[in-house]
Amino acid sequence: MNKKWMLEEPLVVQHYELLKEIGIIDLVDKLQLENLELESLVEEAYEIFRKESVEELVSYVISCLSDKFIPSRLVFILNQGVMFNRINILEFHNLKRIESDLSIESLEPYEKFFRKYTETTSFLIFESEIEDKSLIEPLRDFDPQILVPVKGLSGLYGLIVIGPKVLGDDYTKKEISYINRLLKFTAVSIQNNIHYEHSVRDPKTGLYNHNFFIRRVSEEIARSKRTGDRFSIIMLDIDHFKLLNDEHGHLAGDKVILMLAELLTRTLREEDFLSRFGGEEFMILLPGAGMDSALLTAERLRTAVEIMETEYEGRFLKITASFGVACYDQQYRDTQELISGADSALYLSKSRGRNTCSVDNRVKVTE
Ligand code: GH3
Ligand code: MG
Ligand code: MG
Repeated sequence: MNKKWMLEEPLVVQHYELLKEIGIIDLVDKLQLENLELESLVEEAYEIFRKESVEELVSYVISCLSDKFIPSRLVFILNQGVMFNRINILEFHNLKRIESDLSIESLEPYEKFFRKYTETTSFLIFESEIEDKSLIEPLRDFDPQILVPVKGLSGLYGLIVIGPKVLGDDYTKKEISYINRLLKFTAVSIQNNIHYEHSVRDPKTGLYNHNFFIRRVSEEIARSKRTGDRFSIIMLDIDHFKLLNDEHGHLAGDKVILMLAELLTRTLREEDFLSRFGGEEFMILLPGAGMDSALLTAERLRTAVEIMETEYEGRFLKITASFGVACYDQQYRDTQELISGADSALYLSKSRGRNTCSVDNRVKVTE
């Protein structure tokens, strides 16, 4: 409804006083304001769904809230996507990000309560209704006023805790309804983000998975065809890993894989793309790297793996790994051929006695 249009209607002009008296004009004003608010909420929702990372999303939500009021404390307690049982805490004091010392390790114990209270809930209700009172304590430091659950297909994905307003007055009904609506969109967007992470990451290490690596290589090949930029891939495989499992058990093997994933992440550059390609096989894409530089990187990783020690139940476990390197040039026809190039280089390393790096030296097919 548009008031300007209405005020140009001769009948309305003629009866304006009466319409004012019986409250119609005020009602139109009110509806118009609500309409504007809904329009801006739709715009905010649109922005919320465009955010590609949880961090980006959270900072956008904070900018929306700060247009209306400033909560003195605001905490996003979120499940860390694919790494089950890891919690990501984003805490803000007066909208500034601070290091959090909140000690919540899992959201699981909070699930039962939020199965019953599915929407924005006041902390008072939470305090009085939650069965396990020990769950109140960790949150109390924030002087929480409002709790917003982030719910998804497989339960509670997150919890947003809102403290009192900086200006001290209580949240109005209207503000709570705004928070409720805005954070509902946010919750759906966080869910999308988590589902996406599940589809591209390996749950054990949190690294990108096999399928996503293949996709990334295909994109890089397309880019390289366009720009002429080179890139290389490295495949690595732990040596005699079956023996380590046999001797120390599968859990020891799991810990070694986790430590190796962390070591590789630490040792590579930010722009390198690391994935867990198979059980004890990893793949790395090195954008911009030619054969010499890729071989140097592989050698650097090989020595880092060689000196790594994994402590497991008082024992110090050591491994070595073999590496295969392939540098993309026009002679590889597609992703599959490039990957089998790295695979046969790795095979060469195994046959040369392991704990070594080799390059793909097959006779290549020319187009
Ligand atoms: P090679 O040097 O030829 O690579 O010998 P290998 O023993 O490493 O190779 P093989 O392919 O015979 O065995 C791979 C082993 O890796 C067997 C499998 O149980 C183990 N493995 C694969 N994924 C995991 C995992 O996630 N955890 C553990 N603990 N072991 C794994
Ligand atoms: Mg293997
Ligand atoms: Mg192996």
